[in-house]
Amino acid sequence: MAGLDRVARAFLLTELIQGFALTFRYMFKPKVTVNYPYERSPQSPRFRGEHALRRYPNGEERCIACKLCEAICPALAITIEAEPRDDGSRRCTRYDIDMTKCIYCGFCQEACPVDAIVEGPTLELATETREELLYDKEKLLANGDQWESQIAANLLADVRHR
Ligand code: SF4
Ligand code: SF4
Repeated sequence: MAGLDRVARAFLLTELIQGFALTFRYMFKPKVTVNYPYERSPQSPRFRGEHALRRYPNGEERCIACKLCEAICPALAITIEAEPRDDGSRRCTRYDIDMTKCIYCGFCQEACPVDAIVEGPTLELATETREELLYDKEKLLANGDQWESQIAANLLADVRHR
């Protein structure tokens, strides 16, 4: 009986017709996909994207080289070196992140007492070589300068939960 049923379904093309019916049904429904990169889906203010080092509005680097982010990073991806300034304050002379190790956990951002290291809004950080994923301080500061307005807006939107 099951064999007969299978033969009948094959001759009547019922599965094919069901498939076409399903296709036609969804053809006229609102699309759930977006035409990336021309369209983008909404992004949470908590999105953990490419890292950035921020400055204060007067251009001063926020990082005080406390190394809390380096200590908390579970992937050991951050390397910081520091030296004292003439006025005795600490100055970060090297801030490297090995993005091939980073797991985007966000611990570095949470540990930072001055909101210096943050995970920015961009996810387009694919590269052709591994070396390009070894970020230094200049690269991270450039990211911060580029994304500062959106980073500041995201931090403000999330302030009640911090
Ligand atoms: S996001 Fe996590 S893994 Fe990546 S650098 Fe920060 S603490 Fe390390
Ligand atoms: S980024 Fe923040 S946590 Fe890391 S060393 Fe600088 S001030 Fe400290």
